[in-house]
Amino acid sequence: MKRIAIFPGSFDPFTKGHEDIVLRGSKLFDEIIVAIGYNSAKSQRYFKIEFMIDRIKETFAAHPNVKVQPFAELTAEFARANGARYLLRGLRNTTDFEYENSIAQVNRHLNAELESVFLITAPSLAFISSSVIRDVHRYGGDVRNFLPYSLEGV
Ligand code: ADP
Repeated sequence: MKRIAIFPGSFDPFTKGHEDIVLRGSKLFDEIIVAIGYNSAKSQRYFKIEFMIDRIKETFAAHPNVKVQPFAELTAEFARANGARYLLRGLRNTTDFEYENSIAQVNRHLNAELESVFLITAPSLAFISSSVIRDVHRYGGDVRNFLPYSLEGV
């Protein structure tokens, strides 16, 4: 049976930190589905979802085992519908841990077949967060070093 993992997130925007988690995860699983969704606490996106899907596809063009899909349902349901038995997430610090721990417990309750798997961030990427990148970009700062694709023309 194919080992499929989903990597869900807002990815607003998708960063080099996210890329690292996908690349490392793709060595552990047969297929990774980057599931770009709507986070209730961050309902207004800064980068359009269609634009970000294209940028993520472009990033993993050479990796046929990485797929990208939008989703607007429960992560646990999306995983079930796509035959994914693993939920991949990245951990940067204790704040991430607190948040991820509670989400993982809820997901275990919603879908007992879904195993949450956490990868610790590479130290050089641990400071990268989508929210800081949004702030820098909003005020015209250079964010090229933090993204695995170009924002040329945006
Ligand atoms: P969400 O809105 O669901 O938290 P994010 O797009 O912010 O989605 O993050 C998706 C996942 O990527 C989360 O597990 C988050 O901890 C992880 N992540 C975010 N930034 C980094 C980074 N720099 N390095 C590794 N993992 C990261």
